[in-house]
Amino acid sequence: MSNSDNREQCSVKLLPMNQPISVEALAPRRRHPVSKTWTVEGIEALFNLPFSDLLYKAQGVHREHFNPNEVQLSTLVSVKTGGCPEDCGYCPQSSRYETGVEDKPTMALEEVLAAARLAQSRGATRFCMGAAWRGPKQKDLDPVLDMVKGVKALGMETCATLGLLRAGQAEQLKAAGLDYYNHNIDTAPDYYGSIIATREFNDRLDTLDRVRGAGVKVCCGGIVGMGESRTQRAAMITTLANLDPQPESVPINMLVRVEGTPLANAADFDWSEFVRTIACARIAMPDSMVRLSAGRTQMPEAMQALCLLAGANSIFYGEKLLTTGNPEAELDRQFLDKLGYVPQTV
Ligand code: SF4
Repeated sequence: MSNSDNREQCSVKLLPMNQPISVEALAPRRRHPVSKTWTVEGIEALFNLPFSDLLYKAQGVHREHFNPNEVQLSTLVSVKTGGCPEDCGYCPQSSRYETGVEDKPTMALEEVLAAARLAQSRGATRFCMGAAWRGPKQKDLDPVLDMVKGVKALGMETCATLGLLRAGQAEQLKAAGLDYYNHNIDTAPDYYGSIIATREFNDRLDTLDRVRGAGVKVCCGGIVGMGESRTQRAAMITTLANLDPQPESVPINMLVRVEGTPLANAADFDWSEFVRTIACARIAMPDSMVRLSAGRTQMPEAMQALCLLAGANSIFYGEKLLTTGNPEAELDRQFLDKLGYVPQTV
């Protein structure tokens, strides 16, 4: 596909600076063909829009593709915490950093199912099981297969995030009833090596191919606020948007700075840039669930509301993510009620 196609998609870029953008130019178009190829320049042009124009455009796309007053609730539980051999610079679960996170054994099946039942009783429709592995060995995978079967039997959507998958493992997860596999690209291809040295960007893409090949839906997003440039944020969104098919779920995380990790002292990240990232993800991936993920405990309610207005339509729900905090479920219910959002049902 040529650049001119992309320019058509982002035609507002061509208007002179400081000239008001017509409502017509920003009016939501009909459905974007999913096979459309985005360029970094095209996504960066969206980032560079005046904030109000960007949000207007994102909200228009959002309304075309989703009920704008529905939010999907996912609960994430760490079924195997700590002791990970990888060196992801943001992660308190890496065994390379002194963060106070202990290496714990894999949770028992009944414990996981109890957590899933609790999440379901609070309104969560998707239950995500995370494990701190580079990737599962078969002896690691076997108990997770039982967890997936058990959670699926409760009538919830199932998701797992277990690291890199080897040939055949995605098929086993699919057979157990896995709906989604989470595997984030984390950041831009050209910034990946600054954050993680123990694997390469293409390793991530290989696992995503395996997940797709097995017929499991893809949950894939990234983290912002790790010192990347706006162009690199645009490159991350571009990579996600050019996955074919696009990921069904796109978690956008704000870096949670954890003492002991290499990114503990990362610079403050501006709230408006985070909202812009959500808006760009929504515009570039109109049919994906864009999840406002890690970092919400540091976000004022008004900022979270702006993220929802920018097209986020999913949140992690429950007091804890893998090891970092998340707003209390009751506070989230009050927040969503106040704004008239209703939980999406499966
Ligand atoms: S992000 Fe995952 S792979 Fe990386 S160190 Fe943490 S648990 Fe390990």
